[in-house]
Amino acid sequence: MLAPEIQSKYEATIGLEIHVQLATHSKMFCGCDNNSENAEPNTNVCPVCMGYPGTLPVMNEKAVEYGVRLAKALGCEINRFQRFDRKNYFYPDLPKGYQVSQFFFPVGEHGNVKIDHLAADRKTKKEFEVGITRLHLEEDAGKLSHTAEGTLVDLNRCGTPLAEIVTGPDLRTPEEAKAFMQELQRIVRAMGVSSADMEKGHLRVDGNISVRPVGQKELGSKVEIKNMNSFKFLEQALHYEIERQITAVEAGEQIVQETRGWDEKTGTTISQRIKEGSVDYRYFPEPDLPPLQITDEWLSAIEYNEGLLPATVRNEVAEKLNYGRAWELQDKGALEQFALLSKGFGGELDWLAKELLSGQEFSGVEDLSAKWEAVAADAKARADAWGDEAKLRVVIEQVISENADVAERFKAGESKLMAVFIGQVMAKTQGQADAGMVQRLITELLTNKE
Ligand code: ZN
Ligand code: MN
Repeated sequence: MLAPEIQSKYEATIGLEIHVQLATHSKMFCGCDNNSENAEPNTNVCPVCMGYPGTLPVMNEKAVEYGVRLAKALGCEINRFQRFDRKNYFYPDLPKGYQVSQFFFPVGEHGNVKIDHLAADRKTKKEFEVGITRLHLEEDAGKLSHTAEGTLVDLNRCGTPLAEIVTGPDLRTPEEAKAFMQELQRIVRAMGVSSADMEKGHLRVDGNISVRPVGQKELGSKVEIKNMNSFKFLEQALHYEIERQITAVEAGEQIVQETRGWDEKTGTTISQRIKEGSVDYRYFPEPDLPPLQITDEWLSAIEYNEGLLPATVRNEVAEKLNYGRAWELQDKGALEQFALLSKGFGGELDWLAKELLSGQEFSGVEDLSAKWEAVAADAKARADAWGDEAKLRVVIEQVISENADVAERFKAGESKLMAVFIGQVMAKTQGQADAGMVQRLITELLTNKE
């Protein structure tokens, strides 16, 4: 452990590069199933994703949609002109010899995410901002398994759509990096574009980290860290690396610009390769895919609900309760349910859910979840029972014929008699019909009939 007085002389600069596996039905450029988790190796493949010569890729529109939706959620400007480029390199899990990616014209750029998270006191809110340099789409490569007999190649994952997100060098501590990644996971899930499960590799993160004496303008040499496949490892690896770099600088050593991997067994980072200048991937436009021209119509048709952003939901609920409580509920998944339910069942449920929250009549998350489930089931039952117009129309026609005289007076101009009809329809439907729909149908039936 580094002495705090030494540690405090330095500050760290951290930027992250994240890959999110997009949960589309099919792969990015072919019709293969995009879920091979339980498939035998090399069974979920076709000539396109295996890179046979002469095959032609076809763009999956859903992948572009997911990329755009996520870029919007990260505050990016969406590029109306997008193009795919070939990133050339050789690797056994990349049979084509190049990866189709967006280098020059990505989905989105210049984004910004405001992160708020719970401080160590479990009460107060801490805030910081992270710039999003870019979000681009690209295809995934296969998987290599190193065994005693040799290395095995599984190409099932080849062609899985990925969104790569590059943050600015805006993170100062491992805690911030972790808080950012956790929020990103919530965002990705709320947008419905990926399960973002780190253990399954659906969400992967690499970090660039450097240290410099406090007050120094120029950044120190950066080291890239790979293999941080859980939030815990991310935090541990960054902590370790900060101490390692400070110790080296204190000893008068030069930080080598290199790629290091986190080794969870030893709890250290290990040098993997020294970077001698940047690799030239010889990017050039993918000749087999036309560039994308994003139109206003297509963009506005993309389902994007800012109200579902986890920070929006969390802070809305925090206003009713308190920040610590809202955080706790969200942490346990209760608020995601809140957001989805209120989206699915409209304003009524939104109101009820808020009542439940503000009333504080629940003892815990389980209790709250059970209540919400009951509310949701109730709303759904009502919608099922009386959401069908034809069914409701029969009841209304019956009420009108039973009150022919009232109907005549209504038609003659006594519009306040609407209340009589609504009252009777609501009585016949045990109050389960939607009042708005009832009123609309009554008006329709009384004005269109002779
Ligand atoms: Zn395929
Ligand atoms: Mn990438």
